[in-house]
Amino acid sequence: MANKCTYLTEELYNYLLAASVRPHAVLEELRQRTMELSMGHMQISPEQGQFMSLLIKLMRGKRTLEIGVFTGYSTLAVALALPEDGKIIACDVNKEWTDIAQEYWKKANVTHKIKLHLAPADHTLKQLIADGELEQFDFAFIDADKLSNDKYYELCLQLLKPGGLIMLDNVFMHYGVLKNDKADEVCEAIRQINLKLLHDVRVDISMLPMGDGVTLARKR
Ligand code: SAM
Ligand code: CA
Repeated sequence: MANKCTYLTEELYNYLLAASVRPHAVLEELRQRTMELSMGHMQISPEQGQFMSLLIKLMRGKRTLEIGVFTGYSTLAVALALPEDGKIIACDVNKEWTDIAQEYWKKANVTHKIKLHLAPADHTLKQLIADGELEQFDFAFIDADKLSNDKYYELCLQLLKPGGLIMLDNVFMHYGVLKNDKADEVCEAIRQINLKLLHDVRVDISMLPMGDGVTLARKR
């Protein structure tokens, strides 16, 4: 099959950023601060953050799930797009990183929209289900420990309203999906979930070559 995708050279990517990303002061500050960390590369790209904001606004989303907060960039991008009474359930296990997140959420005046749960995300999601929150959420961003993607996907699907959207991150795993190395557990898990979504009749999907690859899955 011919390659129908424009290969993003560094120059073209820089053009994309300059021609389309509208910098938000606090998001930019947080990006710079995060890039000083050894794991800074884990934060999503600016155009992906802006794309998430656009999706939330298009959907008129009010309640969202964030699985994997890190220093809070993607959570902040969503929070800024939510209405004043919008709510994010944000899941992570790392206090040090989420302390940075909370500092910047405060700076951006969005703390009232975010409830951080410092616990394994599957515990938090199962608790939401036990509390009667089935089909109460508009959007979920899954970007935590990749071996648990399938578990998070199934739990988020239960928590989403029909018409709600899951965004699954790192679906290319830095080209790892192309290597057929069964010993690489993470790449194998990503390949498996990608295959599962391809055939999953409960959702409509689109896989996009943005960042490290994202799949959008809309609950039918
Ligand atoms: N979405 C973030 C951003 O845009 O900056 C990046 C998230 S980073 C790739 C993955 C995060 O998942 C880390 O902060 C890590 O602490 C968290 N994590 C790892 N295992 C987890 C678990 N079992 N439950 C919840 N979060 C977990
Ligand atoms: Ca990611």
